[in-house]
Amino acid sequence: MSSSSSFRRALLSGALAFAAASSFAVSAHAQGYPNKPITLVVPAAAGGPTDTVARLIAESMSKTLGQTVVVDNTGGAGGTIGMARVARAAPDGYTIAVWHIAHSTAPSLYDDLKYNVVNDFDSIGRITDVPMTIVGKAALPPNNIAEFVAWLRANAAKATYGHAGIGSASHLCGLMFLKEVGVKVEGVGYRGTGPAMIDLLAGQFDFMCDQTTGTTGPIKDGKIKGYAVTTKFKVSSVPDLPTLDSTVLPGFEVSAWHAMWAPKGIPKAATDKLVAALQIALKDPKVIERFASLGTVPVDPSLTQPAALKSHLEAEVKRWGEVIKAAGVKGN
Ligand code: ASP
Repeated sequence: MSSSSSFRRALLSGALAFAAASSFAVSAHAQGYPNKPITLVVPAAAGGPTDTVARLIAESMSKTLGQTVVVDNTGGAGGTIGMARVARAAPDGYTIAVWHIAHSTAPSLYDDLKYNVVNDFDSIGRITDVPMTIVGKAALPPNNIAEFVAWLRANAAKATYGHAGIGSASHLCGLMFLKEVGVKVEGVGYRGTGPAMIDLLAGQFDFMCDQTTGTTGPIKDGKIKGYAVTTKFKVSSVPDLPTLDSTVLPGFEVSAWHAMWAPKGIPKAATDKLVAALQIALKDPKVIERFASLGTVPVDPSLTQPAALKSHLEAEVKRWGEVIKAAGVKGN
């Protein structure tokens, strides 16, 4: 045997010993899981719809797990910066994410995504579905959706809309809506619709499509104009808004859904605890009541489980891939 091959063998056995030692370290560590705070990455700025959903869930899960679940807002690039961070994080159960439908549209809207949205993550569970709304700044002249569409067609060249970056739900909804209306309007990207809403309230841009979790309060307070919901059904938190489907755009339907993921390969003990804690959070009366007041639509419990989330994600990647391609929309 040559000295180089015995050197390679020594290296290999060293590497195997290291791998065995580190997997022992991970599983030994997992036994007491969680024994330190868990970082919950929200790939959008504070104060927006995903942040709202994540903080409610985090509060309940913290109680169940006996450790603080700390929300960390890593917004930007339509959520892909935060999700890339989670994909690369140590798979030890101490870094997890709550994100939404944009996780399924990112591969179709971003040409240079650095991670695989299905294979680089472990599913923890689907959380809730959230209708979206077309809203305008308070000073915008139109008072209903038909007037808004007429105004858009007449003012497309000078109108502006806000969104949470390429591939975000608000961006996708805006693209689909504008495509159907048949106009091109300049978009302004934010790190989440939390900061976008601050600017809409200040009248810095004209309109936005965002989840009811972000728009219900300002619509009710008369601080922005609500024009329509993007689901085929009316939404209880904003009962005066008609559907786009029943008014100006028959067949139109975009709805956001939120879910929780971890980096691929976290220890089973951590998965089991996170899944159980999420399920408890979804049955927490405080969470249920708050979600209802914000117009979210509960997901059938069987569909909140990890395997169902994975199938849902795969189906959504395919569905949106086809819709986005057919619509000829591109994030960049
Ligand atoms: N609602 C945002 C979006 O459009 C994200 C957020 O701030 O939660 O994707």
